Amino acid sequence: MVIDSHCHLPHKKYPKDLAQVISDAQAAGVGKFISVGTSLSENLHVLDVAERYPDVYCALAIYPHEDRDQTLDTLRQELARQLKMSTKIVAVGECGLDITEWEGGRYAQDQIDLFEMQLALAIEHKLPLILHNRGGDDLVFDILKPYVAQGLSGVAHCFSSDQEVAQRYLDFNFYLSFSAMITYKGRETLRSVAAWAPLDRILVETDAPYLPPQHLRGQINEPKNVVEVAKKLAEIRKVDYETVAEATYSNTVKLFNLH
Ligand SMILES: [Zn+2]
Repeated sequence: MVIDSHCHLPHKKYPKDLAQVISDAQAAGVGKFISVGTSLSENLHVLDVAERYPDVYCALAIYPHEDRDQTLDTLRQELARQLKMSTKIVAVGECGLDITEWEGGRYAQDQIDLFEMQLALAIEHKLPLILHNRGGDDLVFDILKPYVAQGLSGVAHCFSSDQEVAQRYLDFNFYLSFSAMITYKGRETLRSVAAWAPLDRILVETDAPYLPPQHLRGQINEPKNVVEVAKKLAEIRKVDYETVAEATYSNTVKLFNLH
């Protein structure tokens, strides 16, 4: 059994209904799912799914470029209220920095303010963090540092950087989550990190409906494909599938306090 530590359920991109997406994943060997919200409205859908499916847990947050029409105060109040809505909520996420050419997206300083607001909520609610970080490595560590000192833990979701960055996350008590990016052509550096990372600090995820494995690129990804991620990780690490499946399962249970 494996856990998809990061997927988006529901999402309108799936070409089949949610019950089918979940049962196909279960048939493939996926035991639990962490479904991740990205905006105040999406968080409510995510909560609804987690309430309806026993094996689906959830994380709530505001993605760096979402809900730009609301003030930071409103976002704080609403997210704080949502975080009390269910015992299936196991993390704050995904949130962080996305320093890309996102059309009409938030400026860096506004992203930092939004991120810090959510870090404070993670501490307050004693929840781990699911971190989204694109293009902000040094900055992310500067921002995280005081919260890590207060006991924050979490996961670098869709880890895609090098060993030096990976080590900094490990030093911050974070886990590294590997996606199907480890199957992509030209990602040798990432595969070398996947081979090197300590077995007790790694998770697997799909980020479905995004990031399908190499042979399915251009298609809609599904949580069932987390099995392929774990298989590839086992191949890279030269261990059997069960070793990776069991370790990532128990690491995910431990980080998110699943029961
Ligand atoms: Zn995601």
